[in-house]
Amino acid sequence: MGDRDPLAVEANLGAGVYALRGLTLVRGEGARVWDAEGRTYIDCIGGHGAAILGHAHPAIARALSEQAARLIACPGTFGNDVRAELLEALARVTGFPRFFLCNSGAEAVEAALKFARLVTGRPGFVAAMRGFHGRTLGALSVTWEPKYRRPFEPLLPEVTHVPFNDLAAAEQAISDRTAAVIVEPVQGEGGVRPATPDYLAGLRALCDERGALLIFDEVQTGFGRTGRWFAFHHYGVVPDLLALAKGIAAGVPMGAVAVGPRVGALPAGAHGSTFGGNPLACAASLATLDVLEQAQLPARAARLGAWALETLRKELADAPLVREVRGLGLMIGVELRRRVTPLLRALQEAGVLALPAGPTVLRLLPPLVIEEADWQRAVETVIGQIRQLEGEGGNGRG
Ligand SMILES: *Cc1c(COP(=O)(O)O)cnc(C)c1O
Repeated sequence: MGDRDPLAVEANLGAGVYALRGLTLVRGEGARVWDAEGRTYIDCIGGHGAAILGHAHPAIARALSEQAARLIACPGTFGNDVRAELLEALARVTGFPRFFLCNSGAEAVEAALKFARLVTGRPGFVAAMRGFHGRTLGALSVTWEPKYRRPFEPLLPEVTHVPFNDLAAAEQAISDRTAAVIVEPVQGEGGVRPATPDYLAGLRALCDERGALLIFDEVQTGFGRTGRWFAFHHYGVVPDLLALAKGIAAGVPMGAVAVGPRVGALPAGAHGSTFGGNPLACAASLATLDVLEQAQLPARAARLGAWALETLRKELADAPLVREVRGLGLMIGVELRRRVTPLLRALQEAGVLALPAGPTVLRLLPPLVIEEADWQRAVETVIGQIRQLEGEGGNGRG
């Protein structure tokens, strides 16, 4: 790199769509990352939740290098040993009978929307306010945030957004033109908001009654993040289509749609992807599932998450800056009464990387392998920095 500043290069040559955080990362190990000056950070961003095994996990590095030396490209029109093994593993952990493999969360959502239209012959979708499903035009159509959507209209027709956790509103919206209802069991980007059990069970019943399909977007909540293998396991409600990505291959680009029995096998040619199910990503995903299982990481996420939720709630109970602490497993949100950006900046200065979830919510998505001491320090730093901001900002209403 010489003396060129990577941030300056990216600011000049990148498309400009990312708000840069003023930090260049060059290396990682577990839940730690290092900048170019050798400074270390506790990583509670974890590649937006994708790096569930942290960074530089030896099992992932080994799976990738061995597969790279064997076979990287193999289209879906051919069989492949690693892909077949992965499909069997996915069937085991999800309980679903069929899968379409792709390369990202948005692609998984796109495929789920297309499959729902194909199977029902209906055009419409019902989605939730504050829902986030990705940035491609179909996924964007069901995403709620108007700031993301408006500049790209017209999007898909016949999409209705209804308030999350409001069953009466969903009942009004689901009609005989609804192909599917799409919802995150725990909204991520929209502020770390868990669905109520009655809501998901009620959506299931309404979809059954009216002939619509139910899509769960578990792109962020899947693969142990919430303390179970999948968030739908907390609720005992099984969707017809399950969109997966982020943690599926521990940070290697991959997505998948689990296809339930009401959808069944799709006709050849109905959909496809050049890179989808490539053996390199499949090998990384297989290794990921193996580590998650062997190390019982979903249970670990449940334990570390419950501790953090309890600690944050107790320590911040009287904090004037804090509106609410929410979460499930290692998906934690702290909603403030003001914008979260100054807190994110202060945390970064203090050596902890955290995410926003909307304008006022702090979100923590650490790797499920984070060392307990690091997790404790991250949570203590969050509490300390909130207290400090309160000290600086008087009553904290900024
Ligand atoms: C991140 C995310 C997506 C989009 O995934 P990409 O891989 O960025 O396309 C979709 N849905 C949810 C719930 C997400 O968290």
